[in-house]
Amino acid sequence: MNASPNLLEVRGLRKYFGQGTHPVRAVDGVSFDVRPGETLGLVGESGSGKSTIGRMLTRLIDPTEGQMRYLDADGAAHDLAALSASRMRPLRSQIQIIFQDPYASLNPRMRIRDVLGEALDTHGLARGAARQPRIHELLAQVGLRPEHAERFPHEFSGGQRQRIGIARALAVEPRFIVADEPLSALDVSIQAQVVNLLGELKEQLGLTLLFISHDLDVVEYLCDRVVVLYLGHVMEIAPTEALYAQPQHPYTQALLAAAPLPDPAQRRSIPLLQGDLPSPANPPSGCVFRTRCPQAETRCASAVMALREVQPGRFTACWKN
Ligand code: ADP
Ligand code: MG
Repeated sequence: MNASPNLLEVRGLRKYFGQGTHPVRAVDGVSFDVRPGETLGLVGESGSGKSTIGRMLTRLIDPTEGQMRYLDADGAAHDLAALSASRMRPLRSQIQIIFQDPYASLNPRMRIRDVLGEALDTHGLARGAARQPRIHELLAQVGLRPEHAERFPHEFSGGQRQRIGIARALAVEPRFIVADEPLSALDVSIQAQVVNLLGELKEQLGLTLLFISHDLDVVEYLCDRVVVLYLGHVMEIAPTEALYAQPQHPYTQALLAAAPLPDPAQRRSIPLLQGDLPSPANPPSGCVFRTRCPQAETRCASAVMALREVQPGRFTACWKN
């Protein structure tokens, strides 16, 4: 049961890149909900459309089709997919994105106080005398010190730069943050610190988080629920614990079997994922996973099983379950 209304309802979301008969179907009819205050994981192999979804939710790119119904701070609903740039502007501060590579998204010539100041200026926040205390507060929130405000991006470690990326997202007081593989550019030794920081900030500030990752261990640790994506389609949606204990879709089963496990014997019977991801410009007919599915049948080539609720809160797109 879902007591409070969803923060975001994504329905039939599509993004095709390129024209003609074979556009790249990066995202091809994706539907899921984001509940207020949750950390929702979005997982899938490289090229499955995760970043494209994140960029549509933050309207860095426009969807080809579909709805993204967002409930704002005042309880009013907006279809982010249909909003003009000018009507999107006031909502931009509410929905922020953290990128994989913080260095690529930080201007090397700007001191950190100006990086954060620019974010504040965009939304007319913390002007004049309020500016410096707010910058110091943001730095403190991400575990940095006031003197860091005077430094340039190259003077920081990778982990510190990702902290700056997080501070920049927090500067505009967002309600919803899309974190697109925020750990991928970091040393393993500091990934845990950044994960814990995200978890703490989420609790402190009452944020909702969409956590995009291909690291199944981190997703299991951090996320409340998980959306499993394959070739631009949702294969399964489930609470994290249920998903890891009993994956329903053959693709999820294969993903979890391929990942290192504390007790590999438990999942030895699940076949590993073979071959490469097919091209999203020329996806298989029927179920897009069927060409790599160990349980594929004839019917999978002609018909698609729509995502359906197999248990309360558990959705899968397969005949099998
Ligand atoms: P992920 O983040 O899961 O690795 P992406 O969303 O980045 O996947 O990409 C999904 C598919 O869309 C890939 O095949 C990718 O090559 C393609 N794609 C992404 N952006 C573009 C673009 N601007 N133009 C053409 N194809 C793109
Ligand atoms: Mg990506």
